[in-house]
Amino acid sequence: MFQPLGGGGQLTRSIFNGATGLSQFFPQWNKIDLCVLTVTILDKIQKMHDLGLLFGCINPASIYIAGTQDVYFVDTDSWQVEGYPALSHNQTFTPPELLRDNKTLLIYTMDQENYQIAVLAFMLMMPGKFPYTKGKNADERDSIIDMAFPFSVGGGMRRSRDAERPSGIWRIVWDHLPYQMCDGFYNTFHSNGKYAQPGYRLDTTKWIKMTKDFNDTLMTSNGAGSRSMFPRTFRRDGKRVFVRCKICGQEHPDYYFIHSIHVQQEKIDIWERGYRICLPCASDQSNMSFRCECCGRQFYYTNRTKVLHEIGKSDFDFKKQRWCKDCKKRTIKCGHCGQEVPIYQMREFEDRLRNLRTSVCGNCFKELIEKSKQEKEAWKNSVGRWVSCRSCGRSFSITNGEIEYFSRKGYNLPTRCPNCRKKRY
Ligand SMILES: [Zn+2]
Ligand SMILES: [Zn+2]
Ligand SMILES: [Zn+2]
Ligand SMILES: [Zn+2]
Ligand SMILES: [Zn+2]
Repeated sequence: MFQPLGGGGQLTRSIFNGATGLSQFFPQWNKIDLCVLTVTILDKIQKMHDLGLLFGCINPASIYIAGTQDVYFVDTDSWQVEGYPALSHNQTFTPPELLRDNKTLLIYTMDQENYQIAVLAFMLMMPGKFPYTKGKNADERDSIIDMAFPFSVGGGMRRSRDAERPSGIWRIVWDHLPYQMCDGFYNTFHSNGKYAQPGYRLDTTKWIKMTKDFNDTLMTSNGAGSRSMFPRTFRRDGKRVFVRCKICGQEHPDYYFIHSIHVQQEKIDIWERGYRICLPCASDQSNMSFRCECCGRQFYYTNRTKVLHEIGKSDFDFKKQRWCKDCKKRTIKCGHCGQEVPIYQMREFEDRLRNLRTSVCGNCFKELIEKSKQEKEAWKNSVGRWVSCRSCGRSFSITNGEIEYFSRKGYNLPTRCPNCRKKRY
């Protein structure tokens, strides 16, 4: 293996490693450097193609970058001489139709090579970004087969689906690419795209042309705002209204803010109420927190959830959150009916007569309170003490209710029977 001395590194460890790789290997580079590099790489590939050599399966780890115009292809064992099979071992660059057929030993066609060139160009222009959205189970293979491309173009705009939230940086990087290039990527990677079907893919010369055009634009003052590798916000095209986020202080177009939230199924226009929270900030941690009464852990709300609680409190009579998500899921056996009940629904029932405390479910709590009221009534009406009358000597009864009443009033218990009391007055 040939490895040049000096600075630089593998494509995989530098540019394909995104912001981290760039800051490590090429911290000074901007989009112009990236365009020059991309043209250098694609030119080299074009020259190979002219000689009838195909990459076979692109392995970005074998592309070594010493400078924007100083690129080496090392470890060329996997190259494919036209018509001879290559071992496919890099899923990321494998065209969807080959994954669908589940083949491993393959003869790549020029068209399949072109697909890989497009992936290469995409991951260079969107430094390190894989073209597809891997979805919830993060399956690369499925995303390629489905061609789940999250970016789009239309009406002169570069759009991106919500799938790219929350970080949103790729929406911004995408927005700064030239329209022609976005159109090329979209139509190659989106399942409905013009160049998506085998046999229709753009060849290397097209990508070289688009990259050179981009480079030219960046060199003019028009493209100045797009030169940064990871611009902080969208293009200032003169049509978009830019607003300052009250949390991070960055200016963004108004569509890059949360405009509404749902509180108990009701849509609340928070933009109207003066909230200016950009999308990345919406999912960042806020300064508002609560401590779970069950597990004692402290939880910080995101800025979005903070707004939800603020509006919930003012408009919907929200109470302060008492239990975390985990604890809400945890159940405990009711001390009365024996059913498994969420911990937060448990009530502490105090049986004063028997001096007992039991954790019970909400239903049992109501039932026990009712029962204890009846018990209390019965207890009040039952005899608490027998006393012999001071006047006639007959014994008479005093109920528990009376004893309670007299002692509460601070009176002594009666010493004469009801009959003798009547006679006296
Ligand atoms: Zn912000
Ligand atoms: Zn808990
Ligand atoms: Zn908890
Ligand atoms: Zn119960
Ligand atoms: Zn008496």
